[in-house]
Amino acid sequence: MLSSEIRQSFLDHFRSKGHEIVPSASLMPTSPNLLFTNAGMNQFVPYFLEEEKAPFNRAADTQKCIRAGGKHNDLEDVGFDTYHHTFFEMLGNWSFGDYFKEEAIEYAWELLTAVWGFPKERLYATVYQPGPRDPASFDEEASAIWSRIFEKAGLDPKKHVLTGNKKDNFWMMGDTGPCGPCSEVHIDLTPEGDTNGDLVNQDSPWCIEIWNLVFIQFNANPDGSFVDLPARHVDTGMGFERVAGILATTKNFTDFSQPPSNYNSDLFTDLFSHLESQCDARYTYTMPEGDEKLTKEEIKDCVFRVIADHIRTLSFSIADGILPGNEGRNYVLRRILRRAVMFGKRLNLPNGFFANLAPVLIEKMSEAFPELKKQEVVIRKVLESEESAFEKTIDRGLQLFEKQCEDEVISGEEAFTLYDTYGFPLDLTEILARERGIKVDTEGFEREMEKQRAKGRAAQVKETISVKTPSNIDPTHFRGYHADQLQGTEATVTAV
Ligand code: ATP
Ligand code: MG
Ligand code: MG
Ligand code: MG
Repeated sequence: MLSSEIRQSFLDHFRSKGHEIVPSASLMPTSPNLLFTNAGMNQFVPYFLEEEKAPFNRAADTQKCIRAGGKHNDLEDVGFDTYHHTFFEMLGNWSFGDYFKEEAIEYAWELLTAVWGFPKERLYATVYQPGPRDPASFDEEASAIWSRIFEKAGLDPKKHVLTGNKKDNFWMMGDTGPCGPCSEVHIDLTPEGDTNGDLVNQDSPWCIEIWNLVFIQFNANPDGSFVDLPARHVDTGMGFERVAGILATTKNFTDFSQPPSNYNSDLFTDLFSHLESQCDARYTYTMPEGDEKLTKEEIKDCVFRVIADHIRTLSFSIADGILPGNEGRNYVLRRILRRAVMFGKRLNLPNGFFANLAPVLIEKMSEAFPELKKQEVVIRKVLESEESAFEKTIDRGLQLFEKQCEDEVISGEEAFTLYDTYGFPLDLTEILARERGIKVDTEGFEREMEKQRAKGRAAQVKETISVKTPSNIDPTHFRGYHADQLQGTEATVTAV
């Protein structure tokens, strides 16, 4: 099945169950607490809170999501594993005070096994098992429903229904908002499929989570308390690229010789072919396992994946009016773009390769997301100017970095020079350093940043006095950002 057919069959399935098919919301979140739309449910928050009346009781869609910052931040995994993207489509179905756990689970099971042919014996469901001070009790209801389903399929529910703690089985959009216990579906795609669920939630490429069914029941308040919502709702999210990757890798469950990869689906193949046409390297299937140093071949494949992922994130964001820039979500985008450009150097891709990849993506995705075609000129212009600006400094920045590597640590001052003069985001310097096995003094970097900010504040004070000469101010000089301004993305800044 082509990815477009998979997307359509999801929507058709839920239409046949009385769901209204709604468009994806913008990547620009409505909640002030999010950097980007990070889940299908974001646009429905007012319905769950009953601030607005839902115009339908059931809905389904494919939602554009970005998880690069905030509570859900997958940036560091992207490319290095084969199932986390920065941008992805989340297929979802919702009940607004209508059906609850029973139907949610049955609809999901039917789609996976009867429509798409997922082998039942390879599926595992997890249900919420709280710790001592957690907000809800053990999800007995979901556990009983799943047990019945597995039993009916002739499988042992004790093996196929597992429990998970608050981290994996209590879903929250951010620190606040509608939330509740959840039940996840995982698939074991090891050659023999006989791990008995041992690999569930173990970050194994062979056994991945495909679908999360959230039973929305609470609202999390800023003070950390959870209050019951007036009604109970269903909110599900499934990784579209994961499903497409699983079906493509296993050739519809006939070949279990490789771990599944999202990048094996037709969503990515055109992007890889185009990149291959621009350089001598070829994308082959290599998957780093464990923490050992990556081989050259593995790095090359990571690079292909990173670039293919990042062009999607940048193009879709720009189409929704979120541009690369100096602060907050805009700086997240600039960092992602610069990563892609830096990684492109590894494949000896020509200058401008990143902007030139956009039309390939737009061609592939415009049928499902016409905004890409509509904004094609803007997307290309923004990418071209961002990319060429970074190209002007990247080579000299890399030369400087090589010199700095002679010591065992990149000092805060050095990392700051790379950032301030050459436009290297801190996380980029950290990636480069990690590859050489050396460290970056991130605290020292923060101190330099603070000094710069203090200077900026002093300059501002002066400016208020000499208000008549505003043209002397250069507010667009690359001032960078401070972790606080990234609205909760501190993790990204220090995590690599
Ligand atoms: P994981 O544990 O694999 O990081 P998650 O539990 O964080 O996933 P959810 O918040 O439950 O993910 O999102 C619902 C579904 O969206 C997941 O079951 C998964 O299939 C998909 N998904 C989540 N994050 C990503 C991502 N970064 N890239 C692609 N698909 C994703
Ligand atoms: Mg996650
Ligand atoms: Mg998970
Ligand atoms: Mg999940």
